[in-house]
Amino acid sequence: MTLHLQSQVSLKPFNSFGVDVRAQLFAQAHSDADVREALAYSAAHDVPLLVIGGGSNLLLTADIPALVLRMATRGIRVLSDNGSQVVIEAEAGEIWHPFVQWTLAQGLSGLENLSLIPGTVGAAPMQNIGAYGVEIKDVFAGLTALDRQTGELRDFTLAECNFAYRDSLFKQQVGRWLILRVRFALDRVEHLHLEYGPVRQRLTEQGIDHPTATDVSQAICSIRNEKLPDPAVLGNAGSFFKNPLVSAVLADEIRLAHPGLVGYPQADGRVKLAAGWLIEQAGWKGFRDGDAGVHRLQSLVLVNYGTATGLELLKLAQRIQRDIAERFHVELEMEPNQY
Ligand code: FAD
Ligand code: NAP
Repeated sequence: MTLHLQSQVSLKPFNSFGVDVRAQLFAQAHSDADVREALAYSAAHDVPLLVIGGGSNLLLTADIPALVLRMATRGIRVLSDNGSQVVIEAEAGEIWHPFVQWTLAQGLSGLENLSLIPGTVGAAPMQNIGAYGVEIKDVFAGLTALDRQTGELRDFTLAECNFAYRDSLFKQQVGRWLILRVRFALDRVEHLHLEYGPVRQRLTEQGIDHPTATDVSQAICSIRNEKLPDPAVLGNAGSFFKNPLVSAVLADEIRLAHPGLVGYPQADGRVKLAAGWLIEQAGWKGFRDGDAGVHRLQSLVLVNYGTATGLELLKLAQRIQRDIAERFHVELEMEPNQY
């Protein structure tokens, strides 16, 4: 037995909200064998298994009556290189941002817009992480997951993952698939995505007319550092709500009353509204109730000023949801995974 099981472990250091709940059992997986051992323990002792990575997309509302398994597997390898495209495979426990930096240092582009997203490689497919006009589906080359129902390994292609806006098969079939490693097809020739306003603007301000992928990464890191609270300083889970997709009719109705509405037309005819704009218009920006609050610079981010519980954060989120529904007839869906 190599798995080191601990009982009654505080998960405060293991979730970016810094919520203090306890795991009945806790262990870190450093290999596939550790993962299998945890699954066997869970089955033999009839204890549920909850897999986590960096804990940056979790809302923990109570003690967790489960074995919490934190993925800590490491390893990055080149699977193929045809001179222009390189397929890289990374273990689930690799930390996302250093992994992105590693790819850039190899002269590979594709992940630069996803710089500085917290968390692990293994969790990235869960909600098809996205930022500044790029989602991992755009560079995805497959993954290997363990089917927790059968214990078998399965390789997934892009089409099989059902990736959508902040969504995937793995999020839909919650608890079934344990992602072990993920593959990315990256380019030696850069195809940069600069269409998100602030990115091009930041590069222009820096006097960079012909950016490299590393320039784009650095610009995005500087924008994010200015706008988003650092979880090490102020607990948060990034965007707390997804940007709602509404009908063009509803978007037009809202715009009549609120001409400044921020919305982006989608290929399917719907309009993606900026949830942060709706929340700010409703007056929640900077709101604080005890230690649960709405960030003063970014209304989409709920924050924990210290001792907020998961339930207090959840109640605040529900108040915001009700208010937005009443004012705009728009349903906001929470993004973090609630346990
Ligand atoms: P966790 O929070 O540990 O887990 C998330 C979910 O995935 C849970 O349901 C967990 O059970 C499951 N899971 C974790 N690992 C595995 C695995 N190996 N196999 C199966 N299931 C697993 N997200 C974006 O999309 N774009 C952003 O720009 C962005 N910015 C953020 C900024 C900040 C400041 C913060 C705090 C969060 C941000 N996020 C963003 C959200 C978050 O960082 C991502 O969703 C990230 O991928 C979560 O990774 P994690 O390892 O922390 O996952
Ligand atoms: P922003 O630039 O202030 O823009 C507000 C919203 O409008 C964004 O959420 C974005 O939607 C949308 N948007 C902006 N420009 C767009 C364009 N050209 N085309 C289509 N949609 C556009 O956003 P921000 O809060 O500072 O975040 C910047 C990026 O980082 C966004 O992509 C955001 O999703 C990502 N981010 C995500 C999290 C998270 O936890 N999920 C946390 C922080 C930042 P999209 O969100 O759909 O891109």
